[in-house]
Amino acid sequence: MKDVKPNRDFTMAEVAEGVYVWLAPNGSWGMSNAGLVLSQNESMIVDTMFDLDLTRSMLGAMAAIEPRTKESVDVLINTHANGDHCHGNELVPTKRVIASEETATEMHELPPAALHAMVERFKGDSSALGQYIQWAFGDFDFSNISIRLPTETFTKEMSISIGDLEIELIEVGPAHTRGDVIAYIPSRNVVFTGDILFNLETPIMWSGPVDNWIAACDRIALFDAVTIPGHGPITGRKGALEMRDYWILLRDQTRARFEEGMSVFDAARDIDLGSYDGWGGSERVFLNVNSLYREFGSQSVVEDVMEIFAEMGATFIRKNGLPADQGD
Ligand SMILES: [Zn+2]
Repeated sequence: MKDVKPNRDFTMAEVAEGVYVWLAPNGSWGMSNAGLVLSQNESMIVDTMFDLDLTRSMLGAMAAIEPRTKESVDVLINTHANGDHCHGNELVPTKRVIASEETATEMHELPPAALHAMVERFKGDSSALGQYIQWAFGDFDFSNISIRLPTETFTKEMSISIGDLEIELIEVGPAHTRGDVIAYIPSRNVVFTGDILFNLETPIMWSGPVDNWIAACDRIALFDAVTIPGHGPITGRKGALEMRDYWILLRDQTRARFEEGMSVFDAARDIDLGSYDGWGGSERVFLNVNSLYREFGSQSVVEDVMEIFAEMGATFIRKNGLPADQGD
């Protein structure tokens, strides 16, 4: 699958009675999926978008389905703290924003202003790093975003009702981030996984441990439900098992190279991803191997994330050509 440039052609799909998905056109950087759940005059939104414009389009599409959401939404859930799932919180007309306790803490850590400064810094920079950063983040507007924090937090599990639907919020992190939550609606057989699942798109492990992520995938697979990944097309049990197997493969291949004393970057270059090499964003293997090395207690973890992005940029260009030449 060829990686494509971010674009704004999101679509709305009804996946079960009263359960809608705001589906990104691809699963690339910042191209996240969100959800709307409606029952008996009550509503819930799962996640917001990476910038305010994208969130406005999402809310507009939701209001076209249920006009009341323009005035009031009963609950907003944030599956985790990454900006592509919570930067638009301030635009949702709700009193209740729910996330895990860890997510609420982590939301302070990478302010939108820092992302804005990063994009500005690399404007016109023709290095592999500069081109990659522009390609991944340059189409979003991170200026003037104020993070709206959760009003309610929980650990482990929380159950809420929306109309006559029971929603189970289950904390499965730390894995992708420190506080990942999935939202399961048993009576509709739907699960929103946030970034615990990427479908046909390479995941990123910012936090770990990897075995938590593997266990979370097994748990999602057991639901055997319509499964809404954080990035990529709607899936089911198969998508959860494929994500699990990516992590098993990467964990075991990385462990072997760590024990041989290879550097993070040499290990990442050497690993054979098999069929996952065809997934979008396969260059994220550099970030993931680095996170695994940290977990294994390596002394040679790369601390500067920009060094890792430079490797990813070079690898992306080698594989796909220059980002500037990528079509929409
Ligand atoms: Zn995401």
